[in-house]
Amino acid sequence: MERVVVVQPKRSVVDLPVYQPGMSIADVKRVYGLDQVIKLASNENPYGSSSKVKQAMLAEAEQLNLYPDGAAIDLTSAVAKHYQVEPNQIIFGAGSDDVILMICRAYLVSGDETIMADQTFPQYKHNVEIEGAISIEVPMKDGTHDLEAMLQAVTEKTKIVWICNPNNPTGTIVSHQEIVSFMERIPSQVLVVLDEAYCEYVTDQEYPDVFKLLPAYNNLITLRTFSKIYGLASLRIGYGIGAPEVIHTINQVREPFNTTRMSQAAAIAAIEDQDFVQTCKVKNAEGIVYLQQAFERLHIQSFPAHGNFIMFDVKMPAKEMFELLLHEGYITRAGHKLYPNHLRVTVGTKEENEGLIAAIERILEKTKVTS
Ligand SMILES: *Cc1c(COP(=O)(O)O)cnc(C)c1O
Repeated sequence: MERVVVVQPKRSVVDLPVYQPGMSIADVKRVYGLDQVIKLASNENPYGSSSKVKQAMLAEAEQLNLYPDGAAIDLTSAVAKHYQVEPNQIIFGAGSDDVILMICRAYLVSGDETIMADQTFPQYKHNVEIEGAISIEVPMKDGTHDLEAMLQAVTEKTKIVWICNPNNPTGTIVSHQEIVSFMERIPSQVLVVLDEAYCEYVTDQEYPDVFKLLPAYNNLITLRTFSKIYGLASLRIGYGIGAPEVIHTINQVREPFNTTRMSQAAAIAAIEDQDFVQTCKVKNAEGIVYLQQAFERLHIQSFPAHGNFIMFDVKMPAKEMFELLLHEGYITRAGHKLYPNHLRVTVGTKEENEGLIAAIERILEKTKVTS
């Protein structure tokens, strides 16, 4: 019997697409008949995670029947100690995606405006729209946030400004001085969300030190995650650090048990192993230098990369290059509306990066012959 759905969702949800995940390694192996497939699509850590994490999770496995500590007190202490902030300045989510959702839920009503770059992390717009609020997408300059233009876009309806730094997908950054100048002029009733999911990778001296800014601006929150350099994407744990009043507001809409025992135990072990983080940072920086040099040699334009990914112009529809690379066993990321010819790849291990460049060279060689 055909089922007729009569219950109408709220209007802001009717036309929302369902998130389409990329192909998994197993999918690509099966469809393309490959033994070895390398995923450079989701900015995951190619070096896994700290070995201390597994120990911590095994110990925690004894208590799976018990609800987690919803307030994540032990993890809050560990993070507060690491950054030298107060525990009431920190909120955890099931990934920083969850913190983005909670911020929208706590602050936005229908008709409110938020401002973001015109090519940035899609979860801002997605969650803004669910609340019936509006996203003003401000054109970037050379793939970098144009903070002056974003300031100009502020109206009486503006509630939130999203700054993704380094920006996903372009990888570019805005500097400490630019953020200071921006914060000095933005009305204090506008919340500025500085998404620093990749901050641990950044080596540029100009990169903002948000902990110098937080004491001065209580309308600023930084978002961070254990999914990227800490290598815990599967566990879903991220956090925000901001003024106690902002954190309290977000806590008011938080689900009681939004992070798990496993993720909390893993995150404590992870943040206490900064040697692992440092090793990943150094290898990633070497990988960026290698990739940038390779792109220069191949006359491929790339954006300055500051995270663990790099975006470059493949001089053909990126979807085509994406498909050709799948045949070579590399999963990458295309489909950026403003950059239809640009591919985003995660910086892999030395071998993975070399393999990727060799595959791109083979493809360019072949398309040259046939075109
Ligand atoms: C990956 C990413 C996140 C969050 O990831 P979680 O796994 O939800 O913590 C947030 N912002 C940006 C820009 C990202 O790239």
